[in-house]
Parts: sequence; C-alpha cells; structure tokens
Amino acid sequence: MGLIKLIIVVLVIWLGFSLFKKLRKPKNSLDQNPPSGSKMLACSVCDMRIPENEAIIQNGKVYCSKEHLE
Ligand SMILES: [Zn+2]
Repeated sequence: MGLIKLIIVVLVIWLGFSLFKKLRKPKNSLDQNPPSGSKMLACSVCDMRIPENEAIIQNGKVYCSKEHLE
C-alpha cells in the first residue's frame, strides 16, 4: 500500500511541476530575430559595417552614427 501512495505523491508533484513550468515558460517571440537578408553598409568615416536600415545615408555617403555624419 505504501508504494501506491508514493507513486500518487510523485505523480501529483510531477503534474504540479509540469504545470508550473508551463505557466512560467517565457514567451518565445519569433519576431525578435534580426531581419535576414538585410544589406550591410560600411561607414565612410570608420568603415564599420552596419545594417542598411540603421545606417544614415546623406549625399550618397554612409554613416554609422550622427557623430560621423558631422
Ligand atoms: Zn562611423
């Protein structure tokens, strides 16, 4: 009889633990991945590579930051 009790206790703990894990599971947002296939541009001042959507383009030249734009 003791063994059955033990199995039930273990089962209840396991169920509670799996439920707890399910509730605590962080949301895996797929949209956090960086956009693949985005063009990389080199800054005309420091030659650092930056994605096209983050680059500052002025007068046909590429800049990595506002500091290098001036
Ligand atoms: Zn730069």
